[in-house]
Amino acid sequence: MQILDGKETSLTIKEELAEVVAERKKSGKKIPHLAAVLVGNDGGSLTYVGAKVKACKEIGFESTLIHLDETISEEELIEKVHELNNDDEIDGFIVQLPLPRHIDDKKITLAIDPKKDVDGFHPTNLGNMVLDLPGFLPATPAGIMELMRRYGVETEGKHCVIVGRSHIVGSPMSILMARNTFPGNSTVTLTHSKTKNLKEITLQGDIIVTAIGKPEFLKADMVKEGAVVIDVGITRVPDDSTKKGYRVTGDVDFDNVAKKASFITPVPGGVGPMTIVSLMMNTLKAMELNGK
Ligand code: NDP
Repeated sequence: MQILDGKETSLTIKEELAEVVAERKKSGKKIPHLAAVLVGNDGGSLTYVGAKVKACKEIGFESTLIHLDETISEEELIEKVHELNNDDEIDGFIVQLPLPRHIDDKKITLAIDPKKDVDGFHPTNLGNMVLDLPGFLPATPAGIMELMRRYGVETEGKHCVIVGRSHIVGSPMSILMARNTFPGNSTVTLTHSKTKNLKEITLQGDIIVTAIGKPEFLKADMVKEGAVVIDVGITRVPDDSTKKGYRVTGDVDFDNVAKKASFITPVPGGVGPMTIVSLMMNTLKAMELNGK
């Protein structure tokens, strides 16, 4: 069994990006600038946005954090999005989800200029992905693909079973794994909460990607010997023995599944750090695509 070490891989990618930034600085070129919009004080969102801003600092990107009160109206938030669309200094930006209930996140996603949509959630970018056209891939699936590419995980002709069909992880992951690329060229089964006999299906998976948010859901008896297991899930499970009062747990019963897997991602230290570096890679790409 080999660990797909997202933390280590993300550090390598950060070093590569830092070199690009240093080169650009030397030749007097623009430095990539990522903005992150955070609405309210959701604990998870604060952590994720904080990690994104920290990663920008580490590699030398410019970053701007726009922290808005949770009472902001939908119209005001759309106005902020338009400002960022028109700000030449900002190469790409994200609006951290989830948003407060009174704001329709689909409207916000649609308001973002696809050329600055470094989260890759805009329909134009999702459409480009389906059509194999250039654009921004959603950060988490793109990070998983990059991790598999760097470890040389064989995907061609393999059966990839994806558990969870969200618009940001499961569904785009199913499209990427079915594309005629490396990694890719897999035969894909996309499963969800209405799937019957899930265990029978996961047992057929040469590659299993879980993105459901249920701690330790995927047990060893649901996985065949030698499978590649990618755990996207992040759930805070209360734990008084830790300083923070919780521990972060994935969708996979790691200790037992690892005994059968050929490759497996840990949580934390697997998909999470890869998501962050994907966002950084998309920001650099945004700047280059916009001719800067
Ligand atoms: P959503 O909550 O949007 O979707 C969950 C999906 O899981 C749905 O498609 C749902 O099915 C399916 N599901 C729920 N229960 C079951 C079940 N028992 N059997 C099969 N399918 C089930 O999830 P996200 O994709 O946004 O997030 C999933 C997890 O990944 C979360 O823990 C989240 O925190 C984490 N995450 C991690 C990231 C990272 O960087 N590591 C990035 C993004 C998310 P249905 O559609 O039928 O309801």
